[in-house]
Amino acid sequence: MGGRLTVYPVRWRHLLSLLIVFALPAFAGWYEKEETIMGTSVSVKLWHPDANKAEQIMADVMAEMRRIDASLSPFIETSELSRVNRTAARAPVPVSRELATIVDKALWFSERSQGAFDITFASVGHLYDYRKQQQPDEQQRQALLDAIDYHLIELDRDKSTLFFKDPRVQIDLGGIAKGYAVDRGAAILRRHSVEHGTVNAGGDSRILGDKRGEPWIIGIKKPRGQRGDSPRDQAAIMLPLSDTAISTSGDYERYFIDTASGRRVHHIINPDTGQSATGVVSVSVLGPGGFDTDPLSTTVFVLGVEQGLSLINRLPGFDCVIIDSRGQVHYSDGLAPPVKPDQK
Ligand code: AMP
Ligand code: MG
Repeated sequence: MGGRLTVYPVRWRHLLSLLIVFALPAFAGWYEKEETIMGTSVSVKLWHPDANKAEQIMADVMAEMRRIDASLSPFIETSELSRVNRTAARAPVPVSRELATIVDKALWFSERSQGAFDITFASVGHLYDYRKQQQPDEQQRQALLDAIDYHLIELDRDKSTLFFKDPRVQIDLGGIAKGYAVDRGAAILRRHSVEHGTVNAGGDSRILGDKRGEPWIIGIKKPRGQRGDSPRDQAAIMLPLSDTAISTSGDYERYFIDTASGRRVHHIINPDTGQSATGVVSVSVLGPGGFDTDPLSTTVFVLGVEQGLSLINRLPGFDCVIIDSRGQVHYSDGLAPPVKPDQK
């Protein structure tokens, strides 16, 4: 009975799939997708000759972003990061190669910046809640301040284990994970032979190729822009870019104004004080990959104009634009606007 009945439905199905193929022809063009992941807007844009394939590639990128978030978010109790924060002070805990690689990179930037970049900022940082306008009180901050110290992290690279030498230590990868994620997204595009595209997660973008014959125009936001402004009006500086990564750290991303002091309490923490870094309001770093530009933008923000520029100028292949708290713009050597002979 089954045999007779299944013959016709199978043919119908074939006919249907033929119809679908004709209904969705392979359109060459730009394709775009945006989702909220990692507590921020994640987007991918690409040029592709085939609409169906473009959709599939963008879905793959989003799935990768969700996977990274599920593993590295400090706000998800089941994430690998949360598990490490709960257990790594008791004994060395085995961690994935991926987490070990990211912590390794973070420690490298800590060394290079004399601790300005330090994922143990979270030992105090976990007490900030910008949406609820909460911050640690003076006593809490003082009691935890010396638990901000990357030397308290013991990473065994061969065994892939992590150990915290102090029970007060917590780590947070918010200053590096998005840059890592956009690189992973770009790798997916490249694997599918995409030549023109961008992957963006909050302030971190990875740009593949050019925009088919012209550069991508990336705007660095006016730190104190108006909400209703057009994208062009919201930009302090427009940069024509191709084949690069750019990461921006700004004090306007996550913050509240402390009513008692009138101070802006924002998400980039100076490890020396356990409080928001001061002196600059926005830093954008350009370089070959987000896994470097993301931690570097946070690092330069903490270091400030002078030390920040000096660090970037010592790193071949990297450049930066810093807007200080007086609104002045500073460029690294590779970007500095050319000086006319009579201005010298
Ligand atoms: P970004 O927007 O890339 O500058 O990253 C800011 C995020 O980095 C914050 O939300 C924190 O999760 C994390 N962070 C803040 N201060 C530091 C610091 N001093 N070192 C490393 N990560 C930090
Ligand atoms: Mg950053």
